[in-house]
Amino acid sequence: MAYDYIVVGAGSAGCAVVGRLTEAGAQVLVVEAGGPDDQQEIHVPAAFPALFKTPLDWDYETEPQKFLNARRDYWPRGKMFGGSSSINAQIYQRGAHADYDAWAGLGNEGWAWDDLLPLFKQSQHQERGPSEYHGRSEERRVGKECRSRWSPYH
Ligand SMILES: Cc1cc2nc3c(=O)[nH]c(=O)nc-3n(C[C@H](O)[C@H](O)[C@H](O)COP(=O)(O)OP(=O)(O)OC[C@H]3O[C@@H](n4cnc5c(N)ncnc54)[C@H](O)[C@@H]3O)c2cc1C
Repeated sequence: MAYDYIVVGAGSAGCAVVGRLTEAGAQVLVVEAGGPDDQQEIHVPAAFPALFKTPLDWDYETEPQKFLNARRDYWPRGKMFGGSSSINAQIYQRGAHADYDAWAGLGNEGWAWDDLLPLFKQSQHQERGPSEYHGRSEERRVGKECRSRWSPYH
């Protein structure tokens, strides 16, 4: 079988890339180190800590931290389909307006808030309906208490 693209890692970014490529008709091979995302705790927002330090977690730790009295900190990362979005709290949160503008100010064209807002809106299905800041266009459902079984973002 021939593929147009190989995507390594079926986490948040990998799944979004694979989605766009396959929607455009490309043949994509996805290589994921972990297994399926079929454990119950993955799909219950408050249950994500139950996945820590299990085979579904890369279970990293940081380098010794100068301002933590040289302690190493535990650093969970998802090891399964969905990647860290399968071990996260399922909270929808955007970065700060000023941070994006600061990145753009450093020469990163296309990263200003005004550049990104249309993309945030396009990638969101806000259950309360569309507004100046929210969109209702795609399958990434965002609401008071909602989650999508199939979205890498839940
Ligand atoms: C505990 C926790 C809670 C969080 N809570 C939230 C939240 O509530 N809301 C929010 O927006 N964000 C949250 N985040 C952050 C968010 O989940 C991550 O920022 C996001 O998932 C990162 O996406 P990514 O594609 O960069 O990496 P990941 O989603 O981690 O994907 C990387 C993928 O690559 C795979 N991989 C790695 N190495 C290899 C290899 N060599 N070969 C093949 N596959 C490989 C991994 O197994 C994984 O599936 C949380 C993160 C954690 C860890």
